[in-house]
Amino acid sequence: MLHDNYGINEKGHLTVCGADTVKLAAKYGTPLYVLDTDKVRAQCRIYKSAMEKYFPSGSMPFFASKALSYVGIYRIIASEGIGTDIVSPGELYTAAKAGFPLQNTCFHGNNKTDADIEYGVKSGVGYFVVDSTEELLALNGIAVKLGKVQKILLRLSPGIDPHTFEAVKTGRVDSKFGSPIATGAAEQIVKEALSLNGVRLCGYHCHIGSQIFEPEPFCDAAKIMIQFSFDMKNKYGYEADIINLGGGFGVSYYEEQKDPDIEGNIKEIADVINGFCKEKNIKVPVIFMEPGRSIVGAAGVTLYTVGSVKEIPGFRSYVSVDGGMPDNPRYALYSSRYTALIANKADKPCTEEYTVAGRCCESGDLIGEGMRMQKAERGDILAVLVTGAYNYSMASHYNRIPKPPIVTVSGGKDTLAVKRESYEDLTRNEL
Ligand SMILES: *Cc1c(COP(=O)(O)O)cnc(C)c1O
Repeated sequence: MLHDNYGINEKGHLTVCGADTVKLAAKYGTPLYVLDTDKVRAQCRIYKSAMEKYFPSGSMPFFASKALSYVGIYRIIASEGIGTDIVSPGELYTAAKAGFPLQNTCFHGNNKTDADIEYGVKSGVGYFVVDSTEELLALNGIAVKLGKVQKILLRLSPGIDPHTFEAVKTGRVDSKFGSPIATGAAEQIVKEALSLNGVRLCGYHCHIGSQIFEPEPFCDAAKIMIQFSFDMKNKYGYEADIINLGGGFGVSYYEEQKDPDIEGNIKEIADVINGFCKEKNIKVPVIFMEPGRSIVGAAGVTLYTVGSVKEIPGFRSYVSVDGGMPDNPRYALYSSRYTALIANKADKPCTEEYTVAGRCCESGDLIGEGMRMQKAERGDILAVLVTGAYNYSMASHYNRIPKPPIVTVSGGKDTLAVKRESYEDLTRNEL
């Protein structure tokens, strides 16, 4: 099976964390998000222990909660003793409601409003990741007004495209995020930050992309950031305490995609950082990383009930399910490829190739095309694997479809974590 938390039991049913998915579908209804919290914790521990082992003391992962945000996930993350990233006041509110220690948060976003900034400072957010000079000045004004000194990291663009190695060092300056190093904007914002009383500059942040499986792009980014820190030290006498390398490693969504060796990659990044700092004769900074997908991706499976199965001779066969783009918009948005199977026939051979369609009035409402799986019939339970990241958090109410519940599984036992939305929930705010 694609990940070690998936299995097949004696009935031939798909299991997640030992729980029978066909039973879960019967108990809670479909569509249903299943989240294996043992897997979430295992992933947190891989990052935490590797980062503590190879990077200087104080280094830690921050779970990027845009991948999955609901009250319960912040409790799990907090109990693993790692930080979290928030990108909006709504995520901040949810984390605060869960009792998350807000000193262990990074607050992201390229356009924080004054109200967002004030809410963040008042709540005791650990680090603002400041995107631009405008935000820096607004934040400083608000912090001074509140009599606080806010810790900040500056978001910089190191100019790395992790998926096309040729563009390294030149590309990616054109982004809505951060201050590019190459144009001099990064230096300007450092100078500005050092002159202000309401903020304390703690270091730099970059996020080079997602679904990165190898350590090299992170090593390149780290070297550029450390070189920049070295240059700023020489010019302004300021040396960064923290370098935040942004989003985490990729996750395998299908058989041909190999899961990365997270600990091995972290060791390689640490070796490069240590060597480069030695060469430059500067102290090794505390390293933060912000994995989202690789913490929760494989922990999640979505269960649907199969409705119509339609063969269009000479073209293809459609299997329609009782969810779709409202609960998983990623195929519609990015043509993201997933693995699906018939959960109640998981031990049978995959003899068919289907286009899996959702229930929306929208021909682009697909979960995938060319998906190989067992023969589907009305009433079967269709499982889509690796949906823990960017599914619930991206869900919409398109076609007035209520959001599915989240059921967590730990030690094989299931617990309702988020209730299914009702039709009344849909009209709650409508006067
Ligand atoms: C999206 C994002 C992440 C998480 O990326 P993953 O690929 O899910 O690990 C981390 N940091 C920032 C700033 C992001 O925008």
